[in-house]
Amino acid sequence: MSRFFTEKYASLVPYTPGEQPQDMQYIKLNTNESPFPPSPGVAAAVMGECGRLQLYSDPESRVLTEKFAALYGVSPEQVIMTNGSDEVLNFAFMAFADEERPLVFPDITYGFYPVIAQLNRIPYTEIPLTEDFRINPADYIGCGKTVVIANPNAPTGIPLGLAAVEQITASNPDTVVIVDEAYVDFGGESAVGLVDRYDNLLVTGTFSKSRSMAGARIGFGIGSAAVIRDLNTIKYSTNPYNVNRMSAAAGIAALAENDYYRDKCRVIMENRTFTTAQLRALGFEVLDSCANFIFARCPGRDGGELYRSLKARGILVRHFDRERISDFLRITIGTREQMECLIRTLKQILEV
Ligand SMILES: *Cc1c(COP(=O)(O)O)cnc(C)c1O
Repeated sequence: MSRFFTEKYASLVPYTPGEQPQDMQYIKLNTNESPFPPSPGVAAAVMGECGRLQLYSDPESRVLTEKFAALYGVSPEQVIMTNGSDEVLNFAFMAFADEERPLVFPDITYGFYPVIAQLNRIPYTEIPLTEDFRINPADYIGCGKTVVIANPNAPTGIPLGLAAVEQITASNPDTVVIVDEAYVDFGGESAVGLVDRYDNLLVTGTFSKSRSMAGARIGFGIGSAAVIRDLNTIKYSTNPYNVNRMSAAAGIAALAENDYYRDKCRVIMENRTFTTAQLRALGFEVLDSCANFIFARCPGRDGGELYRSLKARGILVRHFDRERISDFLRITIGTREQMECLIRTLKQILEV
């Protein structure tokens, strides 16, 4: 820390992103990226935009927003496009949470939530997941706080039913309920259909996972027009050109090839079923996932050790050094070949 770092941030513990090592070629199953490239039209669209980089991007991301809204069955006024969904989450925390409306989220969930809360000095409560790593809706119904739920949750992959999401939203009419649907395309139920009925509902999502575009940084929020206006107030106070020209072009091209991503999601879900069965056959406990990753532990085996053994053999997974989940590995679902290699390698490590 330099002697100039302000006191208000001195105790901030930043988010730790998954490793992106450059030392060797790993089978990368640690950051929930897609193993597939973006849809075929994306590269050409990005190239086409390069000759116009002297110009600022459209601060409204108008074309992208309109195409996106049409596809999701909402109006463009109900949509904000952002620089990854991490940005819309930050905007939402800034806009809708404070001392009077503190945040509440599960103890085991996306690690960015407490970081954004601390950055903005917003008080928050972490509610323990149940014994079997589920969100208990009763903990959030009528709680009167700004609720943040990842659905499906991360790193568990366990989804929450739409009825529960609606109950939580309906019972907290004076606070915003943020539903982070980063993984919804892999088998979850989206709450987007509820935004017309509940003005306190904000659904967030991303092109990073299901649309194979983590490097493009495209996220979105869907909510009432008034909620979206508030998010835009924050956006225009921090980063008006938040979606750059190349990413906007990439996003538009990806939306025009929607079937491509649906097909890839289907393949990943099949590979998830395969990997889950294989791991269970090896004695692993695997939570039922509706995401592009699985959360698994091997009884009698230390999670950290297993993570290191895999890394030494060229396979990168994610291990969280947190008490309740330190035996678990979060394994991103890759191609069938990658998953077969994972299983082979685990058999070697476990000597079975
Ligand atoms: C990956 C992820 C995000 C954010 O992804 P971006 O790349 O910033 O769009 C948000 N929430 C959860 C739960 C995630 O896992």
